[in-house]
Amino acid sequence: MSTLLIQDPIFLEHIAPAGHPERPDRMRAIDQALSAPPFADLVRVGAPDAATAELLATAHKESYVAEIRAAVPDEGIVPIEADTYLSPRSYDIAARAAASACLAVDEVMAGRASNAFCAIRPPGHHAEPDHTMGFCLFNNAVIAARQAQRKHGAERVAIVDWDVHHGNGTQAIVWDDASILYCSTHQMPLYPGTGAPSETGCGNIVNAPLKPGAGGTEFEMAFADRIVPALDAFAPDLIIISAGFDAHWRDPLAEINLSEEDFVRATLSLMEAAQRHCGGRIVSLLEGGYDLAGLAGSVAMHVATLMKA
Ligand SMILES: [Zn+2]
Repeated sequence: MSTLLIQDPIFLEHIAPAGHPERPDRMRAIDQALSAPPFADLVRVGAPDAATAELLATAHKESYVAEIRAAVPDEGIVPIEADTYLSPRSYDIAARAAASACLAVDEVMAGRASNAFCAIRPPGHHAEPDHTMGFCLFNNAVIAARQAQRKHGAERVAIVDWDVHHGNGTQAIVWDDASILYCSTHQMPLYPGTGAPSETGCGNIVNAPLKPGAGGTEFEMAFADRIVPALDAFAPDLIIISAGFDAHWRDPLAEINLSEEDFVRATLSLMEAAQRHCGGRIVSLLEGGYDLAGLAGSVAMHVATLMKA
């Protein structure tokens, strides 16, 4: 079986004002890195049709989904929140990102792919039940987790979030949902301000914050001491990775100093946990990562590691 890659030029068409870090060039950098010969064996699929409002409402209030759709401009770029912008195709593109995550879940849960990576944008983990935040419109990771539960009978789904920012949206949506485990490493203090170890939901949330300046050793300890034991206790039927690469040392938005090899080690530890509990099933979703070289190099090593399953 192979690793599935979902990528599509449609993801270039969600745009923010010049200078915004969450930019289409992120997709170009990843596409170029994954065009190299070692990635010839990836099964490449384009983005499916947009997720329906009903599907998006598995993680969000219906009124919020309608509000985003109505806020999309006919032309130009409009702010919808401090850091988050809409361009004419943004609703459709964000809904196609969510649909891509669900397609990856379908393929992995049905056993047609051993694992999957979705090179999608906009990211999702800051999107709350009823408001946008931090470049995010729809919470791809929770929508994907609930797809695994609704369509494939998964009882327990784990979301592991190694983006350097805490996934406040993911945490808020699953706060009292014991069927979804949310584990996060992130820099603290940093935007959005949530993610303290004391935030535990209904026992389903594990926050392992890192201090500014932390590096691979602290990141590896967060996995070994907090995240992997939580996964083993939870025994998920699927692991979803909120794979942001902004904890890379080159990234301009944070002060964590990870290398490509640190993301390889984290990928391997999650692949081993997935082997122990769920036949190796992993769906990895791009979140942040704003230095193009750090992002492309890290995604390449992450995907190359997934391909060794
Ligand atoms: Zn981030």
